[in-house]
Amino acid sequence: MKVLIATQKPFAAVAVEGIKSILEEAGHEVALLEKYPAQEDFVAAVADVEALIIRSDKVTPEVIAAAPKLKIVVRAGAGFDNVDLAAASAAGVVVMNTPGQNSNAVAELALGLMIFMARTQFTPATGSEIEGKRLGIQAFGNVGRLVGAKAKALGMKVSAIDPFLPDEKIIAGGAEPASSLEALYAGSDYLSIHIPATPETIGSIGYDLIASMPKGATLINTARKEVIDEAGLAKALRERPDLKYAADVAPDCYEALREEFGLRVFATPKKMGAQTSEANINAGLAAARQIVSFFATGDTRFQVNR
Ligand code: NAD
Repeated sequence: MKVLIATQKPFAAVAVEGIKSILEEAGHEVALLEKYPAQEDFVAAVADVEALIIRSDKVTPEVIAAAPKLKIVVRAGAGFDNVDLAAASAAGVVVMNTPGQNSNAVAELALGLMIFMARTQFTPATGSEIEGKRLGIQAFGNVGRLVGAKAKALGMKVSAIDPFLPDEKIIAGGAEPASSLEALYAGSDYLSIHIPATPETIGSIGYDLIASMPKGATLINTARKEVIDEAGLAKALRERPDLKYAADVAPDCYEALREEFGLRVFATPKKMGAQTSEANINAGLAAARQIVSFFATGDTRFQVNR
Protein backbone atom coordinates (compact mmCIF):
# COMPACT_ATOMS: atom_id res chain seq x y z
CA MET A 1 0.00 0.00 0.00
CA LYS A 2 1.16 3.56 -0.61
CA VAL A 3 1.27 5.70 2.52
CA LEU A 4 1.69 9.46 2.25
CA ILE A 5 3.10 11.41 5.19
CA ALA A 6 1.61 14.85 4.53
CA THR A 7 2.86 17.41 7.02
CA GLN A 8 2.74 21.16 6.50
CA LYS A 9 4.61 21.33 9.80
CA PRO A 10 7.00 18.38 9.46
CA PHE A 11 7.79 15.69 12.01
CA ALA A 12 11.33 15.68 13.40
CA ALA A 13 13.69 13.86 11.02
CA VAL A 14 14.18 11.02 13.50
CA ALA A 15 10.39 10.51 13.64
CA VAL A 16 10.17 10.37 9.83
CA GLU A 17 12.91 7.73 9.79
CA GLY A 18 11.06 5.67 12.40
CA ILE A 19 7.72 5.95 10.59
CA LYS A 20 9.33 4.92 7.30
CA SER A 21 11.05 1.92 8.78
CA ILE A 22 7.87 0.60 10.47
CA LEU A 23 5.86 0.96 7.26
CA GLU A 24 8.55 -0.32 4.89
CA GLU A 25 9.28 -3.35 7.06
CA ALA A 26 5.60 -4.24 6.75
CA GLY A 27 5.88 -3.98 2.95
CA HIS A 28 4.31 -0.56 2.43
CA GLU A 29 5.60 2.19 0.17
CA VAL A 30 6.14 5.60 1.79
CA ALA A 31 5.91 9.04 0.18
CA LEU A 32 6.67 12.33 1.90
CA LEU A 33 5.05 15.74 1.38
CA GLU A 34 6.43 18.33 3.80
CA LYS A 35 6.06 22.11 4.13
CA TYR A 36 3.79 22.24 1.09
CA PRO A 37 3.04 25.85 0.14
CA ALA A 38 -0.68 25.48 -0.62
CA GLN A 39 -3.63 23.18 0.08
CA GLU A 40 -3.73 22.40 -3.68
CA ASP A 41 -0.36 20.69 -3.34
CA PHE A 42 -1.82 18.37 -0.72
CA VAL A 43 -4.87 17.66 -2.92
CA ALA A 44 -2.59 16.90 -5.88
CA ALA A 45 -0.44 14.48 -3.86
CA VAL A 46 -3.16 12.06 -2.76
CA ALA A 47 -4.33 10.67 -6.13
CA ASP A 48 -2.74 7.23 -5.71
CA VAL A 49 -2.41 6.84 -1.92
CA GLU A 50 -4.17 4.22 0.19
CA ALA A 51 -3.20 5.71 3.57
CA LEU A 52 -2.39 9.14 4.94
CA ILE A 53 -0.48 10.23 8.03
CA ILE A 54 -1.14 13.88 8.90
CA ARG A 55 -0.59 16.32 11.74
CA SER A 56 -2.64 19.57 11.66
CA ASP A 57 -3.10 19.18 7.90
CA LYS A 58 -6.62 19.76 6.60
CA VAL A 59 -8.34 16.70 5.19
CA THR A 60 -11.19 18.48 3.43
CA PRO A 61 -13.89 16.95 1.20
CA GLU A 62 -11.64 17.97 -1.75
CA VAL A 63 -8.77 15.89 -0.38
CA ILE A 64 -11.07 12.89 0.10
CA ALA A 65 -12.53 13.29 -3.40
CA ALA A 66 -9.05 13.49 -4.93
CA ALA A 67 -7.98 10.21 -3.26
CA PRO A 68 -10.16 7.43 -4.72
CA LYS A 69 -7.95 4.66 -3.29
CA LEU A 70 -7.81 6.11 0.23
CA LYS A 71 -8.71 3.64 3.02
CA ILE A 72 -7.34 5.25 6.17
CA VAL A 73 -6.25 8.63 7.55
CA VAL A 74 -4.30 8.73 10.80
CA ARG A 75 -3.98 12.06 12.55
CA ALA A 76 -0.74 11.85 14.54
CA GLY A 77 -2.09 13.65 17.60
CA ALA A 78 -5.18 13.90 19.75
CA GLY A 79 -7.56 16.46 18.20
CA PHE A 80 -9.01 15.51 14.80
CA ASP A 81 -11.12 18.60 14.05
CA ASN A 82 -8.91 19.17 10.97
CA VAL A 83 -10.43 16.09 9.30
CA ASP A 84 -13.85 16.27 7.65
CA LEU A 85 -15.26 13.14 9.28
CA ALA A 86 -18.53 13.22 7.34
CA ALA A 87 -16.72 13.29 3.99
CA ALA A 88 -14.38 10.51 5.11
CA SER A 89 -17.22 8.33 6.36
CA ALA A 90 -19.23 8.89 3.19
CA ALA A 91 -16.24 7.66 1.17
CA GLY A 92 -15.70 4.67 3.48
CA VAL A 93 -12.41 6.05 4.80
CA VAL A 94 -11.42 5.11 8.35
CA VAL A 95 -10.11 8.05 10.41
CA MET A 96 -7.98 7.50 13.51
CA ASN A 97 -6.08 9.66 15.98
CA THR A 98 -3.21 8.56 18.23
CA PRO A 99 -4.63 9.27 21.68
CA GLY A 100 -2.27 9.88 24.56
CA GLN A 101 0.92 10.07 22.51
CA ASN A 102 1.49 13.81 22.88
CA SER A 103 -0.34 14.38 26.16
CA ASN A 104 2.74 14.84 28.31
CA ALA A 105 4.09 17.56 26.02
CA VAL A 106 0.81 19.47 26.19
CA ALA A 107 0.50 19.01 29.95
CA GLU A 108 4.02 20.37 30.49
CA LEU A 109 3.20 23.39 28.31
CA ALA A 110 0.00 24.07 30.29
CA LEU A 111 1.99 24.12 33.53
CA GLY A 112 4.71 26.21 31.91
CA LEU A 113 2.10 28.76 30.84
CA MET A 114 0.73 28.92 34.40
CA ILE A 115 4.14 29.72 35.85
CA PHE A 116 4.94 32.12 32.99
CA MET A 117 1.75 34.08 33.71
CA ALA A 118 2.23 33.90 37.49
CA ARG A 119 5.64 35.54 36.94
CA THR A 120 4.25 38.26 34.63
CA GLN A 121 5.80 36.70 31.52
CA PHE A 122 9.25 36.55 33.09
CA THR A 123 9.51 40.30 33.60
CA PRO A 124 10.96 41.62 36.88
CA ALA A 125 7.51 42.56 38.28
CA THR A 126 6.61 40.84 41.55
CA GLY A 127 4.82 37.66 40.63
CA SER A 128 3.04 34.93 42.55
CA GLU A 129 3.51 31.22 43.16
CA ILE A 130 1.27 28.42 41.97
CA GLU A 131 1.73 26.29 45.09
CA GLY A 132 -1.42 26.29 47.19
CA LYS A 133 -3.55 27.77 44.40
CA ARG A 134 -6.74 26.13 43.15
CA LEU A 135 -6.51 24.57 39.70
CA GLY A 136 -9.67 23.65 37.78
CA ILE A 137 -9.37 21.21 34.90
CA GLN A 138 -12.08 21.28 32.23
CA ALA A 139 -12.14 17.77 30.66
CA PHE A 140 -10.21 15.04 32.40
CA GLY A 141 -8.88 13.13 29.39
CA ASN A 142 -5.30 12.21 28.60
CA VAL A 143 -3.96 15.77 28.89
CA GLY A 144 -6.24 16.89 31.72
CA ARG A 145 -5.27 13.95 33.94
CA LEU A 146 -1.55 14.59 33.44
CA VAL A 147 -1.94 18.32 34.17
CA GLY A 148 -3.75 17.36 37.38
CA ALA A 149 -1.08 14.92 38.52
CA LYS A 150 1.78 17.31 37.81
CA ALA A 151 -0.03 20.25 39.41
CA LYS A 152 -0.66 18.21 42.56
CA ALA A 153 3.04 17.44 42.76
CA LEU A 154 3.62 21.22 42.68
CA GLY A 155 1.24 21.70 45.61
CA MET A 156 -1.85 22.92 43.77
CA LYS A 157 -5.39 21.98 44.86
CA VAL A 158 -6.88 20.22 41.88
CA SER A 159 -10.56 19.95 40.86
CA ALA A 160 -11.92 18.71 37.56
CA ILE A 161 -15.06 18.18 35.52
CA ASP A 162 -15.75 15.89 32.58
CA PRO A 163 -19.33 15.21 31.48
CA PHE A 164 -18.32 11.82 30.05
CA LEU A 165 -16.51 10.53 33.13
CA PRO A 166 -18.04 9.35 36.40
CA ASP A 167 -16.81 11.12 39.54
CA GLU A 168 -14.99 7.95 40.64
CA LYS A 169 -12.64 8.25 37.66
CA ILE A 170 -11.88 11.87 38.53
CA ILE A 171 -11.21 10.90 42.15
CA ALA A 172 -9.06 7.96 40.99
CA GLY A 173 -7.11 10.46 38.86
CA GLY A 174 -6.32 12.44 42.00
CA ALA A 175 -8.73 15.37 41.52
CA GLU A 176 -11.81 16.59 43.34
CA PRO A 177 -14.93 16.35 41.12
CA ALA A 178 -16.56 19.77 40.61
CA SER A 179 -20.33 19.96 40.99
CA SER A 180 -20.76 21.98 37.76
CA LEU A 181 -18.75 23.83 35.15
CA GLU A 182 -19.92 27.10 36.67
CA ALA A 183 -18.68 26.02 40.11
CA LEU A 184 -15.33 24.96 38.62
CA TYR A 185 -14.74 28.35 36.98
CA ALA A 186 -15.96 30.30 40.02
CA GLY A 187 -13.64 28.36 42.33
CA SER A 188 -10.39 28.18 40.34
CA ASP A 189 -7.39 30.50 40.52
CA TYR A 190 -6.12 28.71 37.41
CA LEU A 191 -8.47 27.06 34.94
CA SER A 192 -6.93 24.76 32.34
CA ILE A 193 -9.08 23.89 29.31
CA HIS A 194 -8.78 20.40 27.75
CA ILE A 195 -12.04 19.90 25.86
CA PRO A 196 -12.02 18.86 22.20
CA ALA A 197 -13.36 21.29 19.58
CA THR A 198 -16.78 19.91 18.66
CA PRO A 199 -20.04 21.57 17.53
CA GLU A 200 -21.07 21.60 21.23
CA THR A 201 -17.84 23.07 22.59
CA ILE A 202 -16.99 25.66 19.91
CA GLY A 203 -17.53 29.15 21.35
CA SER A 204 -18.75 27.60 24.60
CA ILE A 205 -16.36 29.45 26.94
CA GLY A 206 -17.47 33.04 27.07
CA TYR A 207 -18.05 36.07 29.23
CA ASP A 208 -20.20 34.47 31.93
CA LEU A 209 -17.75 31.71 32.77
CA ILE A 210 -14.60 33.82 32.44
CA ALA A 211 -15.94 36.78 34.42
CA SER A 212 -17.06 34.42 37.20
CA MET A 213 -13.45 33.47 37.99
CA PRO A 214 -12.00 34.63 41.32
CA LYS A 215 -9.82 37.69 41.77
CA GLY A 216 -6.46 37.38 40.03
CA ALA A 217 -7.43 34.21 38.13
CA THR A 218 -5.74 32.95 34.97
CA LEU A 219 -7.40 31.02 32.16
CA ILE A 220 -5.08 28.65 30.31
CA ASN A 221 -6.14 27.23 26.95
CA THR A 222 -4.01 24.52 25.36
CA ALA A 223 -7.05 22.93 23.68
CA ARG A 224 -8.28 24.84 20.61
CA LYS A 225 -8.78 28.57 20.04
CA GLU A 226 -12.26 27.84 18.65
CA VAL A 227 -13.67 26.81 22.04
CA ILE A 228 -13.36 30.41 23.25
CA ASP A 229 -15.96 33.08 22.50
CA GLU A 230 -13.39 35.79 21.78
CA ALA A 231 -15.77 38.75 22.21
CA GLY A 232 -16.74 37.37 25.62
CA LEU A 233 -13.08 36.89 26.56
CA ALA A 234 -12.23 40.49 25.59
CA LYS A 235 -15.22 41.82 27.54
CA ALA A 236 -14.25 39.88 30.66
CA LEU A 237 -10.62 41.06 30.44
CA ARG A 238 -11.81 44.67 29.98
CA GLU A 239 -14.14 44.60 32.98
CA ARG A 240 -11.80 42.64 35.21
CA PRO A 241 -8.25 44.07 35.16
CA ASP A 242 -7.13 41.25 37.45
CA LEU A 243 -7.87 38.41 34.99
CA LYS A 244 -5.28 36.85 32.66
CA TYR A 245 -5.42 34.59 29.60
CA ALA A 246 -2.70 32.40 28.07
CA ALA A 247 -3.15 30.13 25.10
CA ASP A 248 -1.63 27.72 22.64
CA VAL A 249 -2.58 28.96 20.04
CA ALA A 250 -3.41 32.66 19.48
CA PRO A 251 -7.01 33.82 19.27
CA ASP A 252 -7.94 35.62 16.04
CA CYS A 253 -8.09 38.90 17.97
CA TYR A 254 -4.68 38.37 19.64
CA GLU A 255 -3.06 41.57 18.34
CA ALA A 256 -5.96 43.64 19.65
CA LEU A 257 -5.94 41.82 23.01
CA ARG A 258 -2.22 42.26 23.38
CA GLU A 259 -2.48 45.97 22.60
CA GLU A 260 -5.32 46.50 25.06
CA PHE A 261 -4.26 44.14 27.86
CA GLY A 262 -0.46 43.86 27.52
CA LEU A 263 1.16 41.23 29.70
CA ARG A 264 -2.20 39.96 30.95
CA VAL A 265 -2.51 37.99 27.72
CA PHE A 266 -0.12 35.65 25.98
CA ALA A 267 -0.36 33.24 23.07
CA THR A 268 2.19 31.04 21.38
CA PRO A 269 2.84 32.24 17.82
CA LYS A 270 2.20 28.76 16.39
CA LYS A 271 0.50 25.80 18.03
CA MET A 272 3.36 24.21 19.94
CA GLY A 273 1.77 22.05 22.65
CA ALA A 274 2.76 18.81 20.97
CA GLN A 275 5.92 20.24 19.42
CA THR A 276 8.51 18.25 21.34
CA SER A 277 10.78 15.65 19.81
CA GLU A 278 9.34 13.05 22.20
CA ALA A 279 5.72 13.76 21.21
CA ASN A 280 6.64 13.93 17.53
CA ILE A 281 8.23 10.53 17.70
CA ASN A 282 5.55 8.91 19.88
CA ALA A 283 2.62 10.13 17.77
CA GLY A 284 4.33 9.48 14.42
CA LEU A 285 5.39 5.94 15.30
CA ALA A 286 1.96 5.17 16.76
CA ALA A 287 0.36 6.37 13.50
CA ALA A 288 2.63 4.08 11.47
CA ARG A 289 1.90 1.07 13.72
CA GLN A 290 -1.85 1.72 13.53
CA ILE A 291 -1.69 1.71 9.71
CA VAL A 292 0.32 -1.52 9.65
CA SER A 293 -2.13 -3.17 12.01
CA PHE A 294 -5.17 -1.86 10.08
CA PHE A 295 -3.99 -3.34 6.77
CA ALA A 296 -2.71 -6.56 8.40
CA THR A 297 -5.69 -7.42 10.63
CA GLY A 298 -8.41 -4.81 10.09
CA ASP A 299 -7.66 -3.31 13.54
CA THR A 300 -9.82 -0.17 13.96
CA ARG A 301 -9.30 0.35 17.69
CA PHE A 302 -8.53 4.05 17.39
CA GLN A 303 -11.16 4.87 14.77
CA VAL A 304 -12.93 8.17 15.50
CA ASN A 305 -15.56 8.17 12.70
CA ARG A 306 -17.67 5.15 13.59
P1 NAD B 1 -8.83 13.10 25.21
O1 NAD B 1 -9.72 12.62 24.11
O2 NAD B 1 -7.95 12.16 25.92
O3 NAD B 1 -9.72 13.84 26.32
C1 NAD B 1 -10.75 14.72 26.01
C2 NAD B 1 -11.71 14.72 27.17
O4 NAD B 1 -12.72 15.67 26.86
C3 NAD B 1 -12.40 13.37 27.40
O5 NAD B 1 -12.21 12.94 28.72
C4 NAD B 1 -13.87 13.65 27.10
O6 NAD B 1 -14.72 12.96 28.00
C5 NAD B 1 -13.96 15.15 27.31
N1 NAD B 1 -15.02 15.76 26.50
C6 NAD B 1 -15.45 15.36 25.28
N2 NAD B 1 -16.44 16.18 24.86
C7 NAD B 1 -16.62 17.08 25.83
C8 NAD B 1 -17.52 18.15 25.99
N3 NAD B 1 -18.46 18.44 25.07
N4 NAD B 1 -17.43 18.90 27.13
C9 NAD B 1 -16.50 18.60 28.06
N5 NAD B 1 -15.63 17.57 27.98
C10 NAD B 1 -15.70 16.83 26.87
O7 NAD B 1 -8.00 14.29 24.56
P2 NAD B 1 -6.65 14.94 25.12
O8 NAD B 1 -5.50 14.20 24.58
O9 NAD B 1 -6.77 15.13 26.58
O10 NAD B 1 -6.69 16.35 24.38
C11 NAD B 1 -7.73 17.28 24.67
C12 NAD B 1 -7.78 18.32 23.57
O11 NAD B 1 -6.58 19.08 23.61
C13 NAD B 1 -7.80 17.73 22.15
O12 NAD B 1 -9.12 17.46 21.68
C14 NAD B 1 -7.13 18.79 21.32
O13 NAD B 1 -8.09 19.68 20.80
C15 NAD B 1 -6.25 19.53 22.32
N6 NAD B 1 -4.83 19.25 22.08
C16 NAD B 1 -4.03 20.32 21.83
C17 NAD B 1 -2.70 20.11 21.57
C18 NAD B 1 -1.78 21.25 21.34
O14 NAD B 1 -0.81 21.09 20.62
N7 NAD B 1 -2.02 22.39 21.95
C19 NAD B 1 -2.19 18.79 21.55
C20 NAD B 1 -3.02 17.74 21.88
C21 NAD B 1 -4.36 17.98 22.14
